Amino acid sequence: MSNLVAVVGRPNVGKSTLFNRIIGEKKAIIDDISGVTRDRIYGQSTWNGREFSIVDTGGFVRHSDDVFETEIRSQVKIAIEEADVIIFLVDVTTGITDLDSDVADMLRAVDKPVIVVVNKVDNYNRQLEANEFWSLGFERTFFMSSLTGAGSGEVLDEVVELLPEGEVKPDKEIPRLAIVGQPNVGKSSMVNTLLGVDRNIVTDIAGTTRDSIHTYYNKFDKEFYLVDTAGIRKKSKVHEDLEFYSVLRAIRAIDESDVCALMIDATMGIEAQDMKLFRIAQARKKGIFIVVNKWDLVEKETNTARDFEKTIKERLRPFDDVPVLFTSATEKIRVMRVLDTALNVFKNKAQKFKTSELNKVLLPIIERTPPPTYRGNFIKIKYITQLPLSYPAFAFFCNHPREIKQPYRLFLENKLRETFNFTGVPIAVVFKQK
Ligand code: GDP
Ligand code: GDP
Repeated sequence: MSNLVAVVGRPNVGKSTLFNRIIGEKKAIIDDISGVTRDRIYGQSTWNGREFSIVDTGGFVRHSDDVFETEIRSQVKIAIEEADVIIFLVDVTTGITDLDSDVADMLRAVDKPVIVVVNKVDNYNRQLEANEFWSLGFERTFFMSSLTGAGSGEVLDEVVELLPEGEVKPDKEIPRLAIVGQPNVGKSSMVNTLLGVDRNIVTDIAGTTRDSIHTYYNKFDKEFYLVDTAGIRKKSKVHEDLEFYSVLRAIRAIDESDVCALMIDATMGIEAQDMKLFRIAQARKKGIFIVVNKWDLVEKETNTARDFEKTIKERLRPFDDVPVLFTSATEKIRVMRVLDTALNVFKNKAQKFKTSELNKVLLPIIERTPPPTYRGNFIKIKYITQLPLSYPAFAFFCNHPREIKQPYRLFLENKLRETFNFTGVPIAVVFKQK
């Protein structure tokens, strides 16, 4: 679930290196499955069975030439507002700088857990030097080397120890739908319209995390949870980083959902920020569809919707097997389609296939168009099984799994999509040794 760990610290103390190391633990396991490049600034990790998102707040803050100080202050403010655990990264090779002391002052006043991590402690001598940092006065002070990984286990043990207690996970059978998108696209209006349809059916179940509410919805046999993080917007004292907040909230909502409705403003079209959210949902293997809202404001001719959809899908490629809806939250146009689509995508995502069924359909296709030979050797795919994951993932067992390249992987993904219905669902194709 979405527990958030924020890393703060001066430039060059090693934030990105630490970040990559922590994400790297997981990357090794899932990257051959996902094949999607990870966003540098956010990542997910699991340690001792606890899942958390980690954010390099430094990556968000605009680099103004004048002052590091302003930069680092906003990093720290963001971390204080949003994170469950804060890692304050410092550098043994520079010792305690004035800026470190300032940050320590800010963090000392906070009632969230702070871990001081003294980085670049690559050897024994540096361990002795690192003792200096105890004087910052944080009970939780750890030494590590992001470069070698020494000490990272202790840091991660402490991090997961400090995460809020595991939340009640809503029933697995009932889809969790998140409506995400940029500010002002109409997310709250859509939620209100959907819930307003019949007020009796709404029950707020106790927030499953501090920052989000899953609203249970049951009507016309449609049953799901609405993941709402934006709706309970805290009145933020920090205004400089609004975009940051909306992105971060969206990520939390995505993390907690099974299916994301990415809402865009019809009068704006699909923007870079929208694509960012799309790729995040895709990388996290969530069901996805696009809701083009404020459609009432668009002057329409015969093919307006069709052309609009085409333009959007071009941006989404290669993953463009995604439903696109045109709605008006305020005029109540096609709002029920949002629910229908969410449920369909969820159904597509939950499909399970027997090995015999996969073999029967796919082996003949593979026979007709086998993978390119490798050093004169034929690559023989023997059978296909679905992996027991929360999204459709298929393992193709063969003799030289590492010699099958991306184009053939995409070919198989397309064939899977042509054969079955995976609309709105990221799927994975992996090759395994037989
Ligand atoms: P950021 O600006 O805080 O993100 O810092 P970077 O991760 O970019 O690291 C700054 C420099 O410190 C790079 O040259 C890293 O290779 C180096 N560095 C990071 N961690 C360590 C470490 O544990 N030991 C040593 N010796 N160098 C490190
Ligand atoms: P949010 O920030 O994404 O939650 O967006 P809001 O739901 O607060 O909507 C922002 C503004 O857009 C409000 O003034 C809404 O009344 C308006 N709005 C939302 N949906 C529609 C729509 O479908 N059509 C039109 N014309 N206006 C809309």
